[in-house]
Amino acid sequence: MDIAENIKNIKTEISSKVTLVAISKTKPNEDVMAAYETGHRIFGENKVQEMVEKWENLPKDIQWHMVGHVQRNKVKYMVTFVDLIHAVDSLKLLKEIEKQAKKSNRTIQCLLQIKIAEEDTKYGINVDKAEEILQSEAFQKMSHVKIVGLMGMATLTDNEEKIRKEFSFLKDTFDELQKKQPSFTTLSMGMSGDYKIAIECGSNMIRVGSSIFGERNYN
Ligand SMILES: *Cc1c(COP(=O)(O)O)cnc(C)c1O
Repeated sequence: MDIAENIKNIKTEISSKVTLVAISKTKPNEDVMAAYETGHRIFGENKVQEMVEKWENLPKDIQWHMVGHVQRNKVKYMVTFVDLIHAVDSLKLLKEIEKQAKKSNRTIQCLLQIKIAEEDTKYGINVDKAEEILQSEAFQKMSHVKIVGLMGMATLTDNEEKIRKEFSFLKDTFDELQKKQPSFTTLSMGMSGDYKIAIECGSNMIRVGSSIFGERNYN
């Protein structure tokens, strides 16, 4: 795997309006550095502990994104440095982020994760729930969290039409909510297998792991 080559190739392929988040989960620090040395600075992890370890040991100008499901009791470990939390799916979690961010005197950018895939295993909330959170008094009073958009994961399938439908639905939802939420700037959708379709459907942030770093080995 030529990590530097892979990341450069993806960047020449995509428009400069699309932000690439390099998903380095399970990969060693040397692999992150291989991408870093090409000038890349935005990396994503799906486990808080692993992200904290990488943050401690790698250059401090890396912007770390948390792309995985977050347990409330883990928020405090990343709140001092995390740049964007992609998968917020409850008001309870937002309240914890607000509380911890306040202690650190930071404002944390978050995305709401919308469930667009069919599979039951995927996290995320429906559009009604997202609106309910955005319109809640509790959220509107928060001054240390900023919801800057939406994130979604399409069904894992090779049925391109199905993926396209799910991403288009998320883009329509994003456009609709943006009318009332001027803070909405970011639509995070697309991974190694489907980022080209996601960009065609209006994504402006893609989360790419294995196409940069190679297949993950979980053993
Ligand atoms: C692992 C992961 C990715 C990257 O997946 P690849 O298929 O390796 O590109 C993207 N988003 C989330 C939420 C992930 O957990």
